[in-house]
Amino acid sequence: MQTILTGIRSNSILTLGNYLGALLPMVRLANKHSKDSNINIFVPDLHSIISEVDGDLKENTIRTLKYYIAAGLEINDNVHIYRQSYVPAHSELCWILNCVATMGETSRMIQYKEKSKGSDSCNVGIFDYPILMAADILLYDATYIPLGEDQFQHIELTRNIATRFNNKFGGIFTIPAKTLDQVKFMGQEEGVRIRDLQNPEKKMSKSTLAENSKIMLDDEPEKAMKKIMSATTDSEGKIKFDMFNQPGISNLLQIEALVNDRPLQDVIGEWAGETHYGDLKKKVASSVFNMLTDFQRKMAEIKDEEVLSLLEKGEKYANETANAKLLEVQKAFHLR
Ligand code: ATP
Ligand code: MG
Repeated sequence: MQTILTGIRSNSILTLGNYLGALLPMVRLANKHSKDSNINIFVPDLHSIISEVDGDLKENTIRTLKYYIAAGLEINDNVHIYRQSYVPAHSELCWILNCVATMGETSRMIQYKEKSKGSDSCNVGIFDYPILMAADILLYDATYIPLGEDQFQHIELTRNIATRFNNKFGGIFTIPAKTLDQVKFMGQEEGVRIRDLQNPEKKMSKSTLAENSKIMLDDEPEKAMKKIMSATTDSEGKIKFDMFNQPGISNLLQIEALVNDRPLQDVIGEWAGETHYGDLKKKVASSVFNMLTDFQRKMAEIKDEEVLSLLEKGEKYANETANAKLLEVQKAFHLR
């Protein structure tokens, strides 16, 4: 049975970008495949501590798992929910893979360059987390890892490390699918990249300090509406999907399509020839308002106990699966 795996750090409340780019596509994919695939949904809490955590990590973790359920995740016996730090094999395999990966390939990671800003005082975890991510994936023989496009380089790194390992030790690891195939599997032509509302040439990030740049999933729906209304656009005066020249307008069209689960082309077609940016903003603001209202109502209905009992079951499965794979690797290195 193939495995589809995903994780989202729970350092803080998630943004609309995280939701539309990672959470929602994952939930749709999980529901589509959970009859005949393992669906591993984990919270990478060890990845969290490479940077500041807003609030209590344990509580954030529970909230993140509720996000999946509120987004419509259907639970069955093939759906496994677990916390990374509750499965020690992740850290152990990370160390072993550190001895397989090279400084060269790891230093080329764009996320590392961006997050370290070239400074020597960044913690080693920021440099090393793609290797921990490789361990997260390889322990479970995962083929598909639905993620936003800012993570695609890490999937390629995982493939390279696993291929090198397999060439030396035989086919212990399943090589994850190429990023292009990952995208096809997700049913998208390309990865979704929701833009920063104030600086639409950048992606929306939860760590961005400017409040108006991002919509948080717990924003008052009215507040979110105002943020959309004040989004940066351009002076072209026509509503057209052109991420390069009109990233602000294109971002709004993209949000409108995703929030309403409509094909982007339909939304683009509907607005073609229109010139009033204010009308588009009003429409997107009301779509986001409705989406957040509905989502927040569902979140409030989910009890902690429900999540905790899923974790207990999921962590038993995860430890059994991961320990079996780790043992094969340990044997390859004559550690066992
Ligand atoms: P940070 O600023 O802390 O890096 P982030 O918003 O980039 O936060 P991550 O924790 O890095 O969030 O990523 C969580 C998931 O959300 C990943 O799968 C990532 O690809 C996806 N993602 C992040 N930002 C966006 C975005 N703007 N559009 C679409 N997907 C996104
Ligand atoms: Mg990020």
